[in-house]
Amino acid sequence: MDKIYSFLAQFKATGQYPEYITLDSAGTEPEVIIEGKKCLLFCSNNYLGLSKNPEVIKAAIRGVENHGIGPGGSRILSGNIRELNELDTAVASLVGKEDAITFPTGYMANAAIFKALMDPLIFQMPYGKGDGVIISDEYNHYSILEGCRISYSKKVVYKHNDINDLENKLIENKGIVGNKIVVTEGVFSMEGEISPLKEILSVTKAHGFSLMVDDAHGLGVFGDQGGGIPQELGIEKDIDILMGTLDKAIGGMGGFLAGNKVLIDYLRIASRPYLFSSAVSGVMAYGVIKAIEIVKSRPELRRKVLDNAYYLKNKLQELGFTIYGDSNIPAVPVKIGNENLGIKVASRLRNYGIFTPIVRWPAVPKGESRVRITIMATHTRKHIDELINVLSHIGKSEGLI
Ligand code: PMP
Repeated sequence: MDKIYSFLAQFKATGQYPEYITLDSAGTEPEVIIEGKKCLLFCSNNYLGLSKNPEVIKAAIRGVENHGIGPGGSRILSGNIRELNELDTAVASLVGKEDAITFPTGYMANAAIFKALMDPLIFQMPYGKGDGVIISDEYNHYSILEGCRISYSKKVVYKHNDINDLENKLIENKGIVGNKIVVTEGVFSMEGEISPLKEILSVTKAHGFSLMVDDAHGLGVFGDQGGGIPQELGIEKDIDILMGTLDKAIGGMGGFLAGNKVLIDYLRIASRPYLFSSAVSGVMAYGVIKAIEIVKSRPELRRKVLDNAYYLKNKLQELGFTIYGDSNIPAVPVKIGNENLGIKVASRLRNYGIFTPIVRWPAVPKGESRVRITIMATHTRKHIDELINVLSHIGKSEGLI
């Protein structure tokens, strides 16, 4: 504990200990209450505004009435209510795969997949080690890194979205006899980029590897049915494992892995977080099934969030801000740089009634802090214009533009 005390004291002295802002209203809506004051919120991933959609709420209320607030066990025990089977099917159909397995969070899905696949079940008892390799984009989300770490496989990192570097790594590891997998995100929200999935798929397959895509930020926003980036590109059938979350565009909570039936049947016996942790709750299953129906049937919500993002990004670029990435996605990362300046900018934004915290190391490289604005379909032009005016004022006075 002494070491922890002294580390914490030193960390706090740098002024970088994060401030956990307490909200007095739903943190999914464009307007929120913080310390009794109305604030505009620009940091929720509730991209399509479905979290408080009246039909979703109605469905969730039926869920809570029928099943209470918790599942009471894992899927292998009493947690396997009928609506969870329906949820798995709804998710699989949304992303165009044969089957899916759902978890209470996306982090758990990523923590489950690599151990299950790379240290195959036959070796897992009690501490077996697979002999495969995972090739991972350097900017992949922390939950992917965590999942990779849990497995005993060799881990190799390729330069962010760099097809040549990926190909070199594939060639170097082609001879490995165990399972071989490449993992990338579909949308890198911190970098403001959609990844070149077609190219990644083609080079990955050419060298006999499987491909997993974490499309947490693309799901619901892209694809003609909201199935995400693979659907948008027409390659969903070719992706071996599609991971997504139910807490961003879908507006609920949870994560999933989708693939062919054999893979999912296997994961139902080999994913430790699936077997040894509680199931998704009934209230969530009911709400999310309804939200998925809305995602599929209301493409105008996708258009609205992307129009909003396009408008904001263009205006900020006109003002002279540097925005990471060149894709139009609901996350707009504005370059700040130094962490302390980032903290100051976020605090000044809040004084002007705008809540969008600074994103910094370890979420992004050191010295590359950024304000990652997230836009929702429920933001109005008035909300966005207010954000632009405040950012313009702060940006000028802090020498950012
Ligand atoms: N993958 C990515 C790319 C994410 O951004 C996140 C969460 N922000 C996760 C996985 C984890 O999902 P969850 O919040 O549902 O645990």
